[in-house]
Amino acid sequence: MNLMYHSTRSKEIRVTASQAILQGLAPDGGLFVPESVPQLDKPLEELAEMNYRELAYEILSRFLTDYSEEELKDCINRAYDNKFDTPDIAPLKKAGKMYYLELFHGATIAFKDMALSILPHLLTKAARKNNIDDDIVILTATSGDTGKAALAGFADVKGTKIIVFYPKDGVSKVQEKQMITQKGNNTYVIGIRGNFDDAQTGVKKIFGDAELKEKMSKAGYRFSSANSINVGRLIPQIVYYVYAYTKLLKIGAIKSGGKINFVVPTGNFGNILAAYYAKKMGLPVDKLICASNDNKVLFDFFRTGIYDRNREFVLTISPSMDILVSSNLERLIYHISGNDTHKTAELMKTLNTGGRYEISADMRINLNDFLSGYATVEETKEAIQRVYKETGYVIDTHTAVATEVYEKYFKEDIDPSRTVIVSTASPYKFAESVLEAIGIENIPEDDFEQAKLLNKISQTPIPKAVEEIQSAEIRHNRVCEPGDMKAEVEDILKII
Ligand SMILES: *Cc1c(COP(=O)(O)O)cnc(C)c1O
Repeated sequence: MNLMYHSTRSKEIRVTASQAILQGLAPDGGLFVPESVPQLDKPLEELAEMNYRELAYEILSRFLTDYSEEELKDCINRAYDNKFDTPDIAPLKKAGKMYYLELFHGATIAFKDMALSILPHLLTKAARKNNIDDDIVILTATSGDTGKAALAGFADVKGTKIIVFYPKDGVSKVQEKQMITQKGNNTYVIGIRGNFDDAQTGVKKIFGDAELKEKMSKAGYRFSSANSINVGRLIPQIVYYVYAYTKLLKIGAIKSGGKINFVVPTGNFGNILAAYYAKKMGLPVDKLICASNDNKVLFDFFRTGIYDRNREFVLTISPSMDILVSSNLERLIYHISGNDTHKTAELMKTLNTGGRYEISADMRINLNDFLSGYATVEETKEAIQRVYKETGYVIDTHTAVATEVYEKYFKEDIDPSRTVIVSTASPYKFAESVLEAIGIENIPEDDFEQAKLLNKISQTPIPKAVEEIQSAEIRHNRVCEPGDMKAEVEDILKII
């Protein structure tokens, strides 16, 4: 029997895992959730003997039941290969008393690689499985990080094309360079003369264009999206939480059944939600600590039960967490309401109209798996410096938010030897902020010189992703006005 999925907003339409992955968003605007959460049915000691790929199969096969063993293993082997710079895929490092789960060893040196390296393969297999012969066209607007990780994931994957729009003057130099040097004959990168919102709005319009959809279908194409609400991104993220636990077990840091805590630097609530599912599967987890930066809409939510996006958007040094609407929170709302789709739909409607909602006292009780905190930009910098001075370990600006939240709120009560900080980006990705936080003076302007300096300080090798953009050839130079995005897509797909 297949595990089926339905929307967080209604139980009427039931789909298989592959259909949920193909559709991305449910037809009613809700997010797909599994009808039940599968349990870890093998002893953790047995899982502890597995490598990352083997463990990935254990988890994925429980959720994605309409994929065959051969299909899943093929997806896993193509995703978690030497694109990662360590066979460990997600190494656990100890610095001082704390453990850090490093999720930045993939192609773009940030945690989104963990899911975006497997999603393209899950998606193409899903198409075949559902008798769709069309090529899948991934359309994405990016403010920097997601676009590159998606490009790297989909590059040269047969049966797909990927088109990424980014604000021409709204991403960092390194981020732009990473994207416009992207290899692969199926990749297209376009700068728009506008901001991220213009790009996002344009993409939404294209997705909703019925006439274009028909033209596409005649030419053998269909659109899909790679954003973080897709269950094909969420489920692969559960794997590394189980992996971290089995590692601690194996090195004897915890005893069998002993509970651990995770501190997760959070934006869209995707990463920490995967940890919540790991706990629901039966992984011995005590607290999930949600760490926010100055955009502390989640911290306020956990403290008051009120989610309120009506506030100023703050630009910080941890840009991937600069978010006011955490889309994946809808899945948590669904679960803490006792899987009540009516209640969830009602709250989401309130959010859409007034930008705010309040949960009931009963729902708040179900939040007791979570703790939360936030760190300001100043505190984030202090955390980078403190960890470096005390241990020699260099962390990035996002990981520093999590570290600071642990230190600021929880170091008295929560045992560091059973707590894992989830490390979401390589310090090389945010070298300038990191060097500045450590207190380096006269930081060179050139980003490769910054990397060399960081290499000396951190005693960790310069990642391939940074080396490569040094010499890589520029392959994409399209630029357009926001109003011409559709025309660009038609031109790329030759469907004028
Ligand atoms: C995307 C991202 C986050 C936030 O993850 P969510 O799943 O959106 O909560 C944190 N750190 C880095 C480096 C990221 O790229």
